Amino acid sequence: MARIVMKFGGTSVGDVERIKNVAQRVKREVDAGHEVAVVVSAMSGTTNQLVGWTSAIARLHDAREYDVVVASGEQVTVGLLALALQDIGINARSWLGWQIPFRTDGIHGKARIDRIETEEMERRFAQGQVAVVAGFQGIGPDARITTLGRGGSDTSAVALAAALKADRCDIYTDVDGVYTTDPRIVSKARKIDRITYEEMLELASQGAKVLQTRSVAMAMQHGVRVQVLSSFVDVPGTLVVDEDEIVEQQVVTGIAYSPDEAKITLVGVPDRPGVAGAIFGSLADAAVNVDMIVQNVSQDGQTTDLTFTVGQADLDRASDVLNKLQADLAYAELVADPNVCKISVVGVGMRSQPGIAKTMFQTLADKSINIQVISTSEIKVSVLIGNDYTELAVRALHTAFGLDADADS
Ligand code: ADP
Ligand code: ASP
Ligand code: MG
Repeated sequence: MARIVMKFGGTSVGDVERIKNVAQRVKREVDAGHEVAVVVSAMSGTTNQLVGWTSAIARLHDAREYDVVVASGEQVTVGLLALALQDIGINARSWLGWQIPFRTDGIHGKARIDRIETEEMERRFAQGQVAVVAGFQGIGPDARITTLGRGGSDTSAVALAAALKADRCDIYTDVDGVYTTDPRIVSKARKIDRITYEEMLELASQGAKVLQTRSVAMAMQHGVRVQVLSSFVDVPGTLVVDEDEIVEQQVVTGIAYSPDEAKITLVGVPDRPGVAGAIFGSLADAAVNVDMIVQNVSQDGQTTDLTFTVGQADLDRASDVLNKLQADLAYAELVADPNVCKISVVGVGMRSQPGIAKTMFQTLADKSINIQVISTSEIKVSVLIGNDYTELAVRALHTAFGLDADADS
């Protein structure tokens, strides 16, 4: 007997028939004698609609009320799945985030899980009950509902698997594994049988939304065995593993793209100590994450231009913070550009193989794609380009790094 956490994403619970299909998959594991907790997302499209409504009412909305609204999608699916399970003879009960509870910090809209209290779930496992758990939600220190950021049900599932010391965390989704890039934009993308935690973390954080970044970080930290697989077809998925479990290593394992970026340039920023600290400190205080940063060398010794990227969802908030700083910092102008996309090539093999950046820049140049900002880490190279070129860039790089399904591997 094993203890398993199964997670089903939005498309997998997209309508009543699909919820019944999920119930059958859960039944298979229960019939095999396993203890099962199921984590579900909202039906596909629901969270987008809820987010849209909050923005339509108030551009800079109160994040506490945003959470109240967007957490509601998961309440529907846990109830429906519990009903579908009961209907086929499985003892099942639904749980909202606050009922478990998933205790989080108070950063509404992107809360972090501090602790999950599993005593009651353990007691019910012993009675043969399946727990159907709402993903994405938690309860903050002030007892208000929190959410974990978009895609957060993956993190709910991995955190629950860690807390329950589960043998496996199976993430069921609408593709049958992790691919060398998004199979929806590159038809030649190849399924990866095993990927390291580190590479998966980097791909996820660079935009491969198949797993939420925090879920991978948590899996890595707690040694949770994560598998990504299809909720529609019975084929082996992708296992996320330690580096020593990988036999053959590619130099570039995958390519990620993130269209959800926005570029901000502060023109004419005074070139003196403390300015960057004031700017990025204020953004951090407003819970805005900054990603790529470039500061040009000052031409006149007086002022410089500072360019950086933030998530598109944070652009209004970031602009608001920066506008308030203008009186103090006396920069000349704020220019915001949401029409950008970050493309990243990722692979642990890069540590030992030079020349990846060169191939990347050359490939983009051959397609006349202009690079706006560059950043690198040990196992990735990222560039910011105009978002009209996203597909062209990803396809060209996929071919250039020998990842196409028909290429020799
Ligand atoms: P779910 O609702 O099940 O959580 P998501 O939409 O969050 O599903 O994530 C699955 C999607 O991730 C796929 O449909 C695919 O378009 C996208 N994706 C992006 N990069 C990759 C990749 N490298 N491998 C697989 N899927 C990817
Ligand atoms: N429903 C949430 C979202 O769409 C959480 C998730 O699907 O993981 O972001
Ligand atoms: Mg997801």
